[in-house]
Amino acid sequence: MDSIPFPNKHFYRGKLPISNCFTPGIRLWSNGFPIKVDTYRSCSNLCHYCLARVQSAAMTERSGVRHDQRICRYMSVGELNRALGKARQPDGWMGWALRGKYFIEAGTLCEMFQEADISVRSTWNFLQATRALKIPLIVNTKGNLLCKSDEYFQLFATHPVPVIVNLSFTTYDDNDARANEPFAPLPSERVKLIRRLRDHGIPTTIYLAPYMPDITGKDLPGIVRRSIDAGAVALHLRNFYLTGKHFRTRRWTRYVADNKAVLSRDGMVWKVSRTEMMRAFDVMREEAEKIDPRFKVLGMKTEWFEMEPYHGRMPMDSLPDQFQAGIIDFTAIPILRKVREALSQPQTLLWSKIGYKESLIDLPRTVYLSGDDEATWMACSCLGAPKVPTASAVKLLETGYNWLRMGLWNGTKDFGFIQTVGMIWPVVSANGLPATESGGDRIYAFVPRELEKELITDYGNTTGVSESLASTFLVPERAGGTEDKFYPPEKREIWYDDFNAHWI
Ligand code: SF4
Repeated sequence: MDSIPFPNKHFYRGKLPISNCFTPGIRLWSNGFPIKVDTYRSCSNLCHYCLARVQSAAMTERSGVRHDQRICRYMSVGELNRALGKARQPDGWMGWALRGKYFIEAGTLCEMFQEADISVRSTWNFLQATRALKIPLIVNTKGNLLCKSDEYFQLFATHPVPVIVNLSFTTYDDNDARANEPFAPLPSERVKLIRRLRDHGIPTTIYLAPYMPDITGKDLPGIVRRSIDAGAVALHLRNFYLTGKHFRTRRWTRYVADNKAVLSRDGMVWKVSRTEMMRAFDVMREEAEKIDPRFKVLGMKTEWFEMEPYHGRMPMDSLPDQFQAGIIDFTAIPILRKVREALSQPQTLLWSKIGYKESLIDLPRTVYLSGDDEATWMACSCLGAPKVPTASAVKLLETGYNWLRMGLWNGTKDFGFIQTVGMIWPVVSANGLPATESGGDRIYAFVPRELEKELITDYGNTTGVSESLASTFLVPERAGGTEDKFYPPEKREIWYDDFNAHWI
């Protein structure tokens, strides 16, 4: 095995093939980025609180390769070529997304700018390839090589189409960071990176993750102040999930015992309680309002109707048009924004009124249900997506529009994504089955929390709103195209003239 540079010891290059690094369709309905990629399946930052390592180790081991944190697992050139070569494939999701030049989100489970890349060149090759294809990027990173290598910074900063950075922090205190993320750049180095990126027309969102109450929570107003001062455009707050064998050590058992007042348990998972998350969120939002209301504090997407929904981790609406072009047309966001217009009223949601019209949006011609490696991800990761036995070698395709209706709205056996959103309920017909429109699309109802007791019925198999009651509710309506994909110009806050100047 080759030994490669690593901050404090030798780190070895793994040679075995790992599972697919391109994962199309994940969390598509809420962010609009159709492809995700991890150029690594191992991370040399070794943050003590890392949950991603548990997930990425599981993916590696599922493909029969042992996980060992001293071995660098990475995306091969062969896989990169194979994935990007799909741009020539007329059927399927990847080909459509690549040809449409929609965003690729990179670095979802492992640090893509880890030092190993100087030797391995997985991220380097990915950046070169997407540069040649002019594909916009949104990257999640702690910024190792962006801070330390001018060669990497220049390659990234001169990407010919928009790039966006989600820069991870748990604290702005260098000493606290040293104790928990020993091989990542110090927060003070990352803060300098934000300004440098901004000077190159690249917006940064602070990805405050995971939120550790005893560390991150020490100075929340200070985090907002320093983020704004550094030139970041938004802050995205994420919970801290303590689960899996990594968190069964004495250190984390003690952590749970010491912080029980602000944690809650959900099955096998300990996480920060909703009360504490909301408190932290409110403190930061209030501070941002005082300093610069254009700086958005975001996060906790399961509570859709409690906060303004934006695409991904960014208020994309306020970025120049070049950034917006990389978001797909058919997320749940415009639908949920429409519902938000009458939050105090119960509403009946009909696909024919509030959904998308096939002729008005850009859709893939077809999506693979089986017979292509992308089918695995489209089915198992994209919540609400059609589920078929994807291991089958038989090519099974669905039209893009039908796939959208199933994934976002109808589901196959159970329900579509829309029913996973809090305060949205199925409408139930007199025979106890889900109510549908004449075209077969399921009917849902939005019920404000204060009316749940009055309007929701438990039918045994399901809980929802009766069809006769739903027929009296407001029925919101959209034109069904891209006219409301983003907020209209008069509602947008075009705060960042420097980004506009760079991209016009
Ligand atoms: S940088 Fe991210 S993926 Fe890497 S160890 Fe830290 S938390 Fe985990």
